[in-house]
Amino acid sequence: MTEFQQIRHIGQHHLFIPGPTNVPEEVRQAMNVPQQDMRAPDFGEFTLPLFAGLKRIFRTTDGAVMMFPGSGTGAWEAAITNTLNPGDKVLMARYGQFSTLWVKMAEMLGLEVICVDVPWGAGVPVKEFGRILGRDKDDEIKAVFVTHNETATGVLSDVEAVRRIMDECFHDALLFVDGVSSVGSVDFRMDAWGVDLAVTGSQKGFMMPAGLGILAVSPKAMAASKIATMRRAYFDFADMLAMNRDGYFPYTPPTPLLHGLKAALALIEAEGLENVIARHHRLAEGIRRGVRAWGLDLVAEHRSLYSDTVTAVRVPEGVDAREVLRIAYDDFGASFGSGLARLAGKVFRIGHLGAFNDGMALTALALAELSLVRAGASVPMGAGVAAAQAYFADAAGGQGYAVAAE
Ligand SMILES: *Cc1c(COP(=O)(O)O)cnc(C)c1O
Repeated sequence: MTEFQQIRHIGQHHLFIPGPTNVPEEVRQAMNVPQQDMRAPDFGEFTLPLFAGLKRIFRTTDGAVMMFPGSGTGAWEAAITNTLNPGDKVLMARYGQFSTLWVKMAEMLGLEVICVDVPWGAGVPVKEFGRILGRDKDDEIKAVFVTHNETATGVLSDVEAVRRIMDECFHDALLFVDGVSSVGSVDFRMDAWGVDLAVTGSQKGFMMPAGLGILAVSPKAMAASKIATMRRAYFDFADMLAMNRDGYFPYTPPTPLLHGLKAALALIEAEGLENVIARHHRLAEGIRRGVRAWGLDLVAEHRSLYSDTVTAVRVPEGVDAREVLRIAYDDFGASFGSGLARLAGKVFRIGHLGAFNDGMALTALALAELSLVRAGASVPMGAGVAAAQAYFADAAGGQGYAVAAE
């Protein structure tokens, strides 16, 4: 970076990517702690409320919550290796880069994947899943996988509908959900939807740095873990659970992250999970109205699929989305999400989850407009911002982002 560029980057860099997300100051400061004794007699008193707080966010009373040092991908590996057997048949669908990566992981771990490919921009193919499960009379399929929020395309899938169709087929498979970019930001109900294994990470809705792979495990998945024969060592549920019962960990836990989690949970509880979800919806709707005012299309094929945490925008023909991203970064000190895999160059993404508010949404739209225009798109300058402002002026809720009471 030249000195000139450094001068242009004065002030705050704008992080509009769908993870890692912006870390609130309260959370950042909470992590600035001395290292502590993770076997101290009072360590459990500190960690046990974190497990309880996470269970409230996953909306589970029956399930157990675990945290492994790692990212969401590590939590996925833990979920699979603890509950399945080599060669097990599993049902998955590809509708974006993240769902594609889970298929790849499942294959690498030796599962036999029945994979349904749908267009990127569509969601989980519920009816097709129903047909496949309906034909599987002997319950050979051991698990059904859903990427709740496909972060690559900005598509939210209907997990509840998958549960319903599984129940209609009287199918006994486990239901796995990737909730990395949905849990804690949009409606997610582990118990009510009969989710057996939900996975998330610390760096998206939880407003923290990456480093915690978080799992919620139903009693049924826990029972499966007792007989599952897939190899695992570090990620073994049994070792983790045995120590977690009293708030301890079998291996050194990242204690500063746990302090960050405590602060993040306090923020979410102070705002109220329902209000957090409503804020995400409101901000996402403002962003979508802005994009519509530009005359650009979303990757999501239908409004019923719109994600409230990330919006994937198709750039006009003849414009390179990579150029839009480069200009945003170099000229305006702003990061947007790139188009992943087959969407590279065609799409950029606006992340609007976690510690996000009206001003950030308007800034994202304003800087995206500028970058689009500089990249050669004929987007009416100011139109996106005006559309979002008009919506924010009317829509109830006002500026989100509560401050936790001391
Ligand atoms: C970010 C993300 C992941 C990957 O998680 P990591 O924490 O980067 O390992 C997986 N799935 C979805 C839906 C994501 O958004």
